Amino acid sequence: MSEAAEPATCRRASRRDANGEPQPRVLGAHVSVAGGVDRAPGRAEEIGAAVFQIFTKQPNRWADPVVADDRVAAFRSETARAGVTRTVSHDSYLINLASPRADLWRRSADSFRRELERAALLGLDAVVTHPGNATDGDRASGISRNAAGVAQALEAVPAGPRVLLELTSGSGTSVGGTFEELASIIARIPEPHRARVGVCFDTCHAWVAGLDLRNDFDGVWMRADDTFGVRRVEVFHLNDAKAPFGSHLDRHEHIGKGTIGIGPFRRLMNEDRFRDVPKILETPKGDDGVTADRENLAVLRGLRGELDLILRPGTS
Ligand SMILES: [Zn+2]
Ligand SMILES: [Zn+2]
Repeated sequence: MSEAAEPATCRRASRRDANGEPQPRVLGAHVSVAGGVDRAPGRAEEIGAAVFQIFTKQPNRWADPVVADDRVAAFRSETARAGVTRTVSHDSYLINLASPRADLWRRSADSFRRELERAALLGLDAVVTHPGNATDGDRASGISRNAAGVAQALEAVPAGPRVLLELTSGSGTSVGGTFEELASIIARIPEPHRARVGVCFDTCHAWVAGLDLRNDFDGVWMRADDTFGVRRVEVFHLNDAKAPFGSHLDRHEHIGKGTIGIGPFRRLMNEDRFRDVPKILETPKGDDGVTADRENLAVLRGLRGELDLILRPGTS
């Protein structure tokens, strides 16, 4: 580690919650890999992120790049140098493991396996994936096909990353927009592969899918526990929403500036059970790609411990 990096590390390590306990370093954002994947850790560091999400390839292209050995080495050393605690990738938008079309499913399964291989090469902890679309309207079959594709990739890349099924906005024929569907996918993935599967909970998707984090926060998490199990949430995507509750429209907004509002984020930031779960922004980047992320991360940090002070006004 260079001398220049030390003060930042000390500053982070000294962050405390309302009870004086050190805070786990789990806040971060999706960062760009423009100029090479090894540029991502530096970008995370620039915004004060301890965790980050990347695309390991162009998300709207099928082409699967081979990451050169020197890039892999640079990525790994940069990640360590920047003090990053957790790293994930998000899979390509073209992948549809719920597709009823055999050709598209095979192409998706191949692309998803390659995503896991690249993630393993880079030493990423997990790959976040959208469960896909059952374009023929047969959701049950779509769920089975998704489970088969995920299981196949996990089998093919045994020493690879974990797979996190992302809760979607539940629009159209997309699967994974309800807790029940996520639970069904997980249940259909056979052991031992199921042990490598978790959930990515996107707050914007949950809200527009009709999960009322604002008025029924505890009820939402009780239902999560009754279906797939809260302990399976291994990553949060923290996004406010531009679109109304239950609209199934996926438009991300800055934290506290959207239709969700600040309240549910305050709860999430102060829940003991989510304390060590990475929380990743996918909020609009703005012009310079830095200022907006820094501001949103500052908003989230400011929420920590606040609830405790509100509930127990006597504590200092
Ligand atoms: Zn997301
Ligand atoms: Zn989204």
